[in-house]
Amino acid sequence: MAITVVGSVAFDSIETPAGRRERCLGGAATYFSLSASFFTQVRVIAVVGEDFGAAQQAAFDARKIDTQGIEHASGKSFFWEGSYLENLNEAKTHTTDLNVFGAFQPKIPDAYRDSEFLFLANIDPVLQRRVREAMPDVKLVAGDTMNYWIKDHRPALLEVLRGLDILLINDTETKMLAANTNLVQAARAVLDMGPRMLVVKHGEYGATAFYGRDGIGARTFRAPALPLEEVVDPTGAGDSFAGGFFGYLASQKELTPGAFRRAMFYGSVMGSFAVEEFGTARIEKLTREEIDTRFSQFRELTHLD
Ligand code: AMP
Repeated sequence: MAITVVGSVAFDSIETPAGRRERCLGGAATYFSLSASFFTQVRVIAVVGEDFGAAQQAAFDARKIDTQGIEHASGKSFFWEGSYLENLNEAKTHTTDLNVFGAFQPKIPDAYRDSEFLFLANIDPVLQRRVREAMPDVKLVAGDTMNYWIKDHRPALLEVLRGLDILLINDTETKMLAANTNLVQAARAVLDMGPRMLVVKHGEYGATAFYGRDGIGARTFRAPALPLEEVVDPTGAGDSFAGGFFGYLASQKELTPGAFRRAMFYGSVMGSFAVEEFGTARIEKLTREEIDTRFSQFRELTHLD
């Protein structure tokens, strides 16, 4: 079943202990859609500027991602600059230039209307909410956000949370959103804000799923991350996790508790690939066979017999 995603399509300048890259193709919706495209049809809603050219478009085309909903505006694309010099698990943001996203009015192409899955990737919660309201008939809605929006755009974000089935954020964001330093208590508080399921990403340590009282119906569950010898660039790991997680769910006939657990593993698989090279490079050249092989490695990592 098809997923519509709204979020940033961007250029990123990134510095990590492995080096520096200027203006790579990035953005939350970009990583999400590349990753989810290995599991299902993906349709993107975003805006780009005149600096988004044939090379960037080719990355989406190669994965057969529907980009009718990417509007081309005059001006520059979203630009983000960050580094991971002190902590590989958390980006330090140096620059966020919204550029064409500042005045973006999302429009949903008619061909996207039958999407049963909606992902609100990281972007201004006001835009996330508009897209959510314009697609009231979707079967499952998941979303992401980050410290930038939690700190300074809280009322708009709280409205988005009320309309979500699943929220995927990292542990620092969970604690910040709940103003509580204990992860389990913070998760409970976030679930009380609206989502039925909360997926907390722990960077190199995996991810934990928590369920609300009227939740999707399963126990707290943790998926590991693959211990890697080298992390080249953590940018996009969270969005690639979300793409694997939600893409796998969208490919399933039935959303059983087991499907949610396997989705957590597919999310971890996609996150583990994303960090192996700068920007989207690794995800762009990935194959389905590599995904399946790594899924087996994850199984072996945690299997008792
Ligand atoms: P992550 O998966 O959390 O590493 O997300 C990385 C991506 O988020 C980068 O490609 C950035 O372009 C994008 N990004 C950074 N800051 C923002 C923001 N404030 N709003 C939307 N996207 C952002």
